[in-house]
Amino acid sequence: MNKPRLVVIGNGMAGIRTIEELLALAPDQYEITVFGAEPHPNYNRILLSPVLAGEQTFKDIVLNPLEWYEQNGITLHLGKTISRIDRKRRIVMAEDGTEAPYDRLLIATGSQPFILPVPGAKLKGVITYRDIGDTQAMIDAAEVNFRFLDPSEGTVLTAAIEAAYGQSYDVRWVYDPEEVRTRLAERRYFACVAESADGELLCHEGMAVIEAGDKVAHSGQAVTMPGARGQHIFTRTKRFLMDWARAEGFAGMFSEATAAHPYSQRANLELGAHETGFLLGWIPASVANDAASQAAGRRRQ
Ligand SMILES: Cc1cc2nc3c(=O)[nH]c(=O)nc-3n(C[C@H](O)[C@H](O)[C@H](O)COP(=O)(O)OP(=O)(O)OC[C@H]3O[C@@H](n4cnc5c(N)ncnc54)[C@H](O)[C@@H]3O)c2cc1C
Repeated sequence: MNKPRLVVIGNGMAGIRTIEELLALAPDQYEITVFGAEPHPNYNRILLSPVLAGEQTFKDIVLNPLEWYEQNGITLHLGKTISRIDRKRRIVMAEDGTEAPYDRLLIATGSQPFILPVPGAKLKGVITYRDIGDTQAMIDAAEVNFRFLDPSEGTVLTAAIEAAYGQSYDVRWVYDPEEVRTRLAERRYFACVAESADGELLCHEGMAVIEAGDKVAHSGQAVTMPGARGQHIFTRTKRFLMDWARAEGFAGMFSEATAAHPYSQRANLELGAHETGFLLGWIPASVANDAASQAAGRRRQ
């Protein structure tokens, strides 16, 4: 005799836990079919935060691997979203046209996150946090790659300075891509950048020597792009630069911190810098590092 057909919409925690209980109580009761909108087997959604934090992998949080469905004779449709239930014909239909008839139907589709309609809600990078796809998107967004600019990339530094400081930056050669190229090519300047996974510039930190081969460098032209501020990107970029300089045999680097630029000053101290004294009036008050937001505040003095 044919078994009654049980269709489950939603391959998540509640739906599959129900099936586990059912299989324990009456393993041969139903012919089971599961539809899951996500392209993955059932996983522990509660443990998405440790995955985001890098403490666990997706594999670690899978509750029922594909073999479990197979061993229990469950027909599994992954990546198929049910868009219609025809109750008269007792059939469910997925967006891609897949159909399955049912005698019993379990709808276990969880909840639907939404984003508050506040200003900025539609900006790139504003996402919900509900599934492994969202988690992976956040992991990808947080990925930072560090590298040095090639001499042909002088315009990257020029554009970064322009974006952060407008025309107010007092070291004028950084506005001339050709001059930047020459200094990079002659190894009198080293331009370290932090970039997102898709190559977007997050931070720049430069290191200059008077003559190629000098082993003490001046570090400056710190630019953290407005969208990347508040995430310790400057500290990470400078740490990369310092590690590289150490490996290259540099004896040290110095920079002039100013009281009105406390973030990089604090970061330098955290990185092990020693304060050696006062430097008055090095950077004119006309230098503003908030050019991109047109803000008048945050002036360096
Ligand atoms: C980051 C995070 C942390 C959490 N931490 C906790 C915690 O500490 N404690 C706690 O109690 N709870 C926690 N929760 C909540 C908990 O995960 C949910 O309450 C639980 O997953 C709900 O189970 P569910 O089966 O109803 O829904 P889900 O687990 O969301 O499963 C529903 C599934 O149905 C699928 N689906 C939806 N519509 C369709 C469709 N039309 N066709 C096919 N498939 C569809 C979805 O893709 C999803 O895979 C957390 C949730 C998140 C996101």
